[in-house]
Amino acid sequence: MEFLKSHRLDNLKYDIRGPVYNKAQELESQGYKIINLNIGNPAPFGFDAPDEIVHDIIMNIRNAQGYADSRGLFAARKAVMHYTQTQGIPGVEINDIFIGNGVSELILLSMQALLNTGDEILVPSPDYPLWTTSIALSGGKPVHYICDESNEWNPDLDDLESKITPRTKGVVLINPNNPTGAVYDREIVERIARIAEEHGLIIFSDEIYDRILYDDAVHYPIATMVEHTLCVTFGGLSKNYRAAGFRGGWMILSGAKKRAKSYVEGILLLASMRLCANVPTQYAIQTALGGYQSIHDLVLPTGRLHKQMNAVHDRLTQIPGISCVKPSGALYLFPKIDLELFDFQDDNDFVYRLLSEQKVLVVSGTGFNYVRNDHFRIVFLPTMDELNEAVDRIALFLEAHRVP
Ligand code: PLP
Repeated sequence: MEFLKSHRLDNLKYDIRGPVYNKAQELESQGYKIINLNIGNPAPFGFDAPDEIVHDIIMNIRNAQGYADSRGLFAARKAVMHYTQTQGIPGVEINDIFIGNGVSELILLSMQALLNTGDEILVPSPDYPLWTTSIALSGGKPVHYICDESNEWNPDLDDLESKITPRTKGVVLINPNNPTGAVYDREIVERIARIAEEHGLIIFSDEIYDRILYDDAVHYPIATMVEHTLCVTFGGLSKNYRAAGFRGGWMILSGAKKRAKSYVEGILLLASMRLCANVPTQYAIQTALGGYQSIHDLVLPTGRLHKQMNAVHDRLTQIPGISCVKPSGALYLFPKIDLELFDFQDDNDFVYRLLSEQKVLVVSGTGFNYVRNDHFRIVFLPTMDELNEAVDRIALFLEAHRVP
């Protein structure tokens, strides 16, 4: 008898490390060198975590041998609480903060603690796909609202509002956005807050890229605009602090907390069942959040991240058949392929053949639950030489597949 996976996993996917990624690994094991532009993992590309973070973890490793509180170390939560004060998020107390093994763990936990079968959560399309899978895995129904490419990828609020039903429990916001790089206008964030309050929806705001902002982009934390409903904000060490492997993230409850007693009990139960988040990393959170923020140097026009974002955007958009909204934040470009000009069936066909023929790995737009099948996501973290090589290969590849 075959051992079958759970039905709960039917139709779940995580394409950033999905079948095409597995194919890339297979090719690597055969000796091919792949240019990996699929994962937003800064450190391996020379974007080291700040020394003080590494130092803190090393110096505290002895103190970190035992389990910690399930919500997290007091000092780490105090630092996150202080951060909410500097951002202007009102009324956050120490027990409103939960530390996790990265934001990933907290996304799943926040959904598992909330959802009953068939409960609906509004999620952006495109999204960071862990949101969609976590909702579905928790028995809920992800309902996607459109982000509008022709409006700098801002959420289409009419579409969002039209998808609210009596079963809708919450709305997810990813700002700055992965995969589009959008940083939402103040007015958009305010209007989402009003819609959520009017319909009694919990706001889940994934702000893991809140310090990775280019040019004059400003990030508006939605929690500063919410009073009458619950807001759950997510942040972490993986991107702003380039320490993805240390697995450190946090979740902040604010707004109408009084109405969330039962939900918080659920969160605490699940947090207790996994005992605690990894402790060594928690020692670095206070240091990370306070004082000088080295990420600023990287996102300035003279910084490596900014320069690479600009250069890849410039070069890609010069290729006939490729267009791309310039990112205002995060680590990705989300270009559009004019499928009429090429012989690809769809985005997956494009991604698979790009890997097979040119050994460049990117992720298809539908991997981010985008409703259209003509986009892909590319990470601009490798060295400029490697990025140039990748863009050369993409240009050659597109030329070879142009229909006469
Ligand atoms: N949220 C978004 C929008 C992300 O892009 C990612 C990782 O790419 C995560 C959450 C997960 O982050 P963590 O490393 O903290 O689990």
